[in-house]
Amino acid sequence: MTKARRAVVVGSGFGGLALAIRLQSAGWQTTLLEKRDKPGGRAYVYQDQGFTFDAGPTVITDPTCLEELFTLSGRRLADYVDLVPIAPFYQLRWEDGTVFDYANDQADLDRQIRALSPGDVEGYGRFLKYSEALLEQGYVKLGHVPFPDFRSMIRVAPELVRLESYRSVYSKVAQFVQNDYLRQAFSFHSLLVGGNPFETSAIYALIHALERRWGVWFPRGGTGALIQGLVRLFTDLGGTVKLNAPVERIETANGKVTGVVTAAGEQFPAEIVASNADVMHTYGKLLQAEPRAAATAASLKRKRYSMSLFVIYFGLKREHPDLKHHIVLFGQRYRELIREIFKGPAVPEDFSLYLHAPSVTDPSLAPPGSSAYYVLSPVPHLGSADVDWATLGPIYRDRILAYLEKYLIPGLQDDLVTCRIFTPVDFRDELNAHLGSAFSLEPVLWQSAYFRAHNEDKRIEGLYLVGAGTHPGAGIPGVVGSAKATAGVILGAQQAA
Ligand SMILES: Cc1cc2nc3c(=O)[nH]c(=O)nc-3n(C[C@H](O)[C@H](O)[C@H](O)COP(=O)(O)OP(=O)(O)OC[C@H]3O[C@@H](n4cnc5c(N)ncnc54)[C@H](O)[C@@H]3O)c2cc1C
Repeated sequence: MTKARRAVVVGSGFGGLALAIRLQSAGWQTTLLEKRDKPGGRAYVYQDQGFTFDAGPTVITDPTCLEELFTLSGRRLADYVDLVPIAPFYQLRWEDGTVFDYANDQADLDRQIRALSPGDVEGYGRFLKYSEALLEQGYVKLGHVPFPDFRSMIRVAPELVRLESYRSVYSKVAQFVQNDYLRQAFSFHSLLVGGNPFETSAIYALIHALERRWGVWFPRGGTGALIQGLVRLFTDLGGTVKLNAPVERIETANGKVTGVVTAAGEQFPAEIVASNADVMHTYGKLLQAEPRAAATAASLKRKRYSMSLFVIYFGLKREHPDLKHHIVLFGQRYRELIREIFKGPAVPEDFSLYLHAPSVTDPSLAPPGSSAYYVLSPVPHLGSADVDWATLGPIYRDRILAYLEKYLIPGLQDDLVTCRIFTPVDFRDELNAHLGSAFSLEPVLWQSAYFRAHNEDKRIEGLYLVGAGTHPGAGIPGVVGSAKATAGVILGAQQAA
């Protein structure tokens, strides 16, 4: 019997986990090494005084990409995780009291669009068709295939031009609907994957159709329960997970990967290493001794990175059952605010917020009679605004909590039981994220597909990448798609050998 080949995956984000599952399912003896004390990466979990807080992703879309990880080995996602549908998908709110329940029911959506702007019902219908065409091309067809060379980009160029993907998300949405609030409602989605709606390729308008087609879901027990389900699947398949195991360097010999070494000096020899860590961290730090990595590190340093986020996790000693699970609170400025978030040079005075209120769906996430939340505000990354977050953090936190109390949750500050913040500095130091970016490389056309970090390094044999910095990009469906692309390259090479 031939010995199973060994793979190491560095980092246990959704992308790292999905790749590790695919490799282990295909017979590679796979070890997943994670720096932190819990798996999940951006999908980390905090537990405080009986409250459970998902740190990051909460809007679960396209469950079929997750289901596929289970069916690879003849298993079922439902035996590991219970996904609950969320309705409405989001509630959108503005300061003048306008509320829009962004639902999956066409008649309900049409009624709400008509109430805001009767002429936009027909335009919305055309937008949905456009978004569906983008979904087919940009996600179903290309969301999980690698772009290893420039030719692969040229092949898809005509279709990308036909769909006007060189335009911005906002400019396409504005073609279809006239009302300002509706333009915000159908363009803010690219922010969820780190893209400025005024600059990011219109291809990201596909997120709307993606949500409409497969729905928005929440795992019972929180996103952390989904991570636990994926970890259990991986270990059931025979894979090994090591937590508190920061990788110090990826080792190479004669241009070929030989394994990794952790900060504690433990060695993990392997034929292939796939990094789910930040792409700049991978090339700039883990491979700094390898001369073949220098050009990629220099090119990654010159690229544009997504904005960061300021997140407050808080628990209240009261329930608010009337709140919706996902709420977006738009401030008074949209275009200008977003410009300042992406370009700096300072943290804007005003904000637009996303509030996660999961205990309305799953009361087990808070003690009886209490409720758990997180609220996030997009802020410039540390390269656009080099802020002293140790000083600004508590001040910014108090401003956001006061705002939430004024517009949404009366008595919030008196009811506060527990509260913690996560700033751009934490993204940098905890997650090794370059400039504290929350979503890695900014998803603009000239940093997409072939122009993103490649799934396979052609200069260093046996080195692969997976996660938000690679094609197709951030978001759970994105990084799970990137794992499929990377696994395809690895397993394809294995078959060819
Ligand atoms: C607050 C927030 C909310 C979000 N909301 C949503 C949402 O609702 N829906 C959605 O689809 N997406 C959402 N996203 C985006 C999504 O969470 C991310 O794009 C995705 O989870 C990133 O996955 P990844 O595979 O790139 O790995 P990451 O999650 O970035 O994980 C990388 C892992 O590598 C580890 N690591 C780094 N360096 C080393 C090292 N040297 N050695 C070992 N380990 C290392 C890190 O500790 C980390 O665990 C959100 C993101 C954030 C930050």
